Amino acid sequence: MKLKKGPNDKYGYVDNKTDEWVIQPRYCNATEFNLAGIAIVTLGKGRQILINKENKNVTGKIYRNVSVTKFDYIKAEEIDSNNPAAKGDTIFLKPTGDEITELRNMFIIEVTNEGVVELTYKDKYGVYSLVTGKFIKPKYERIFNFRDSKNAIPYAVVYKDHKAGLIDWDDNIIIPFDYQDIIPCVEFNVAIVKKNDLIGVVDFEGKEVYPFEYCSYSIVDNKICLNKIVTTYIELKEWYEVSKPKCPKCLSRKVKETNWVEINHKYGDRTEFVIGTRAIARKKKVLISYDRVTSFECSSCGHEFTETKTITKK
Ligand SMILES: [Zn+2]
Repeated sequence: MKLKKGPNDKYGYVDNKTDEWVIQPRYCNATEFNLAGIAIVTLGKGRQILINKENKNVTGKIYRNVSVTKFDYIKAEEIDSNNPAAKGDTIFLKPTGDEITELRNMFIIEVTNEGVVELTYKDKYGVYSLVTGKFIKPKYERIFNFRDSKNAIPYAVVYKDHKAGLIDWDDNIIIPFDYQDIIPCVEFNVAIVKKNDLIGVVDFEGKEVYPFEYCSYSIVDNKICLNKIVTTYIELKEWYEVSKPKCPKCLSRKVKETNWVEINHKYGDRTEFVIGTRAIARKKKVLISYDRVTSFECSSCGHEFTETKTITKK
């Protein structure tokens, strides 16, 4: 059946084929029935109910400010029949009208395209999956909702006592709360982690894959590059010197680059290339980090080495 406005300016529902009234037009406003056979109708004075195709109030309750969110889920404010003027509880209902009790009174930030409800309660953050019904209670300072920059992933980076950890949908701790930052790289089966301002790599059992001795990383061309060279601020001048690594063999700093260095201007809008130890600085005080450094040669002992570690996809 479908929604139709009657001659009295009220809404009801007619049979698709015969156009006969199945539910008489007596609602001030109404939606079409969703796939679960539920429609939201307005009785008057902003009072709304959920009906089924038998025109029965399926929850037995009266709401206001009802809205339909992604996946036909319904957000509503309950009206207390004894005190209708009072602000009621905000609830979240499945398309069938069944309440998701976990979400009662939670502040919903967003529902993602993957059906992850980002929520907050008393300054703590959690998530709920509309797809699986799994619920991470709002107990974290921050939560990144089970996705990386591109795709849904089975882990979320969460913060507790200002430290980052990694959890799964069952709230199991995959990587303990021991880091400044965690970047899960699921396709590489590792996570880049930051501790005492240094970057290391761990796997999803929390085991160290590469030690904490890198200063920057980049993910390019299906590779993760880890670099040891220091990230530094530069002042505005036409040329600037980039700091050099130590020769791992004789500890001399007299090394020369034997290949290209790519730098990433984090607060600029360009990536510029430098050859050797010089680059053009076009902005005042730009934070630079070295994303790709291919190789170095020690001028003192002739040792050739690279400061870049590369991880490829598993
Ligand atoms: Zn050397």
